[in-house]
This record gives sequence, structure tokens and C-alpha cells, in this order.
Amino acid sequence: MAPAAGMLMEVRRLLDEGAFRASRAQRFCTGAADCCRFRLTGETPHVTLGEAWVAWKAWRASGRTRLELPPDGSCPFLSGQGRCMIYEGRPLACRTHFCVPAGGALPRREVIDLIHALEDIDAALGGDGAARLPEAVERLSRKGPADGRKRRR
Ligand code: SF4
Repeated sequence: MAPAAGMLMEVRRLLDEGAFRASRAQRFCTGAADCCRFRLTGETPHVTLGEAWVAWKAWRASGRTRLELPPDGSCPFLSGQGRCMIYEGRPLACRTHFCVPAGGALPRREVIDLIHALEDIDAALGGDGAARLPEAVERLSRKGPADGRKRRR
């Protein structure tokens, strides 16, 4: 079942706070999207369950239903034009873990309170800790189109 609206609102607030701290620290995405090609970097963002829900809701809000994992190992939310299709719902790692040309990742200590708060929400939602972004959202997409509930027959 989808989390309560208030809980998702809190997740979004934490994500926005992460983006704010990144911009305050002069981290600005250059839009190259190399970090969205996980096989290229060898790194995949991990998300808590609350973040996965926010990403899934952003995907649904864009009018899309199915989520397919690209065979080239890129993020499933990366468009063919190299844009993030869930920009407003992207997870904390995408907002704080910048590539070297964009200023580098924010030190973990600067967002540790946000990480802990997201972990607390994960536990409250019955999650079992952070998981790889593509698989975490794909799991939600398999449960149902709108909010993770099963589709009526
Ligand atoms: S969610 Fe968006 S910013 Fe993050 S890896 Fe995927 S496409 Fe890139």
C-alpha cells in the first residue's frame, strides 16, 4: 500500500533540503548525464523505500505506467535525450553525489542527518534498507499502476 501523503511530503522535503545543501556548496549538475549511465561509472544510486515511492510517483505523474530496465545498464529514468524524466522526484544520491566536473560529491557528514531521517522513514514503511534505484522502483511498478496496490480485474 502507498505511504500516507504526509510521509511522502516529508521525504520530498528531505530531498529538497539535500538539493539546497548541494547548491549552497556550489555543486551544479552539468547535464552530461554520465552518472546516469551506471555501467559507465560502476556506481548505482541506492534509495530508501520512501525515495523509491517518490521516484515511482514522479514517473506515474509523467503519464508513464511501465518501468523497464534498459539493457545497457543506464538509469531507467534517463531519456534518449540524456534528461532525467523524474527530475522533481530524483533521489538524494542524484541530488548530492556529483561528478568531478560538477564539483564532486557532498561529504557524507553534510547530509548524514538527511540519510538517517530517510532511513527512519524506510523502517516505518517496512523497508529493509537502501536498495539499487532501478530495482527498488521496478519492484513498486510490478505491484500496480497507481500506488503499488494490485490492479482490479
Ligand atoms: S534518477 Fe535521474 S538523475 Fe538520477 S540517475 Fe536516474 S536519470 Fe540520472
